[in-house]
Amino acid sequence: MLLRVTERGMYCEAGDFYVDPWLPVDRAVITHAHGDHARWGSRAYLGSREGERVLRTRMGVGARIRTVDFGETVEVNGVRVSLHPAGHILGSAQVRVEHRGEVWVVSGDYKTEPDSTCTPFEPVRCHTFVTESTFGLPIYRWDPQAHTFAEIRAWWEANREAGRASVLFGYALGKAQRLLAGLLGAEVGPIYTHGAVERLNQDYRDSGIALPPTTHAGAARKGTEYAGALIVAPPSTQGSTWLRRFGPASTAFASGWMRIRGARRRRSLDRGFVLSDHVDWPALLGAVEATGAERVWVTHGYREPVVRWLRERGLEAEAVASRWEGEPEAEPVAADEPEGGGVDSGGEPAPAAEEEGA
Ligand SMILES: [Zn+2]
Ligand SMILES: [Zn+2]
Repeated sequence: MLLRVTERGMYCEAGDFYVDPWLPVDRAVITHAHGDHARWGSRAYLGSREGERVLRTRMGVGARIRTVDFGETVEVNGVRVSLHPAGHILGSAQVRVEHRGEVWVVSGDYKTEPDSTCTPFEPVRCHTFVTESTFGLPIYRWDPQAHTFAEIRAWWEANREAGRASVLFGYALGKAQRLLAGLLGAEVGPIYTHGAVERLNQDYRDSGIALPPTTHAGAARKGTEYAGALIVAPPSTQGSTWLRRFGPASTAFASGWMRIRGARRRRSLDRGFVLSDHVDWPALLGAVEATGAERVWVTHGYREPVVRWLRERGLEAEAVASRWEGEPEAEPVAADEPEGGGVDSGGEPAPAAEEEGA
């Protein structure tokens, strides 16, 4: 086996490196900057050039990070390693590992529907494919994203006409920027953001991703009128005092979990928009097939249904334990930000262990 799971993470013995280790190691190859994949404390990191800024934000200035372009091969102790687009968030990569003619691909988190915030997913041929299965159930099927963005715009417009603010929850890294980019040119606004979102907006803009104009709500003038505005904030701010400044507001969450009836009500949201940065069921199976892999490891999410489906089609599939969890802590920066003289100076709640970044 070219890769195996140890207590520190997915390990390549031939190259003596780990892919997205969950404990500190000497050499870590990173698929993307979400908290469950990019963890602190390793001696050296290898990541994609596209994701360099967001990875730096996540890891801090002291981290030793080497970046490579997509498709560029580096040798690590004689093992060929290259990164290929995963289409999940800015810089997200699949890790291709080749040694003595054997090829493995670790997909990290991925999505096959292209969007403007990252390089689109590319299938990579391999013998063994390591896949997530966050939404690995047949009930998870996404509408085309244009449909979802039209719904979001209509919701905002109705709120504006009713004199309400629209508060849209999305994970600070990836989902928030995808929501914003999807509203580019839709004449939605003014748009205000939570500090954790704005920090990453800056990274995205600095990386060349076009986003509509946004204002950090913490820096907005006192007495700012928010009726008719759109506010983009991490889900961890739901129910917090931070939200009070916006006055009467409709709340919504954009996530793959919103596909399930009841998920919106459980969270006491006015609306749920189905928008995921992960593959849905058909896209997951299509992606596996496109690799031509004969062996598939399923690492996190609904693993058993995917394993069963693949085995029925003659593939060697197994569920492999990992500490990747989707994005339970997908807020890569400290959520507390200094307040601009607001009443509730307590800053923002810490990111909760949310159900999935979806
Ligand atoms: Zn992720
Ligand atoms: Zn993940």
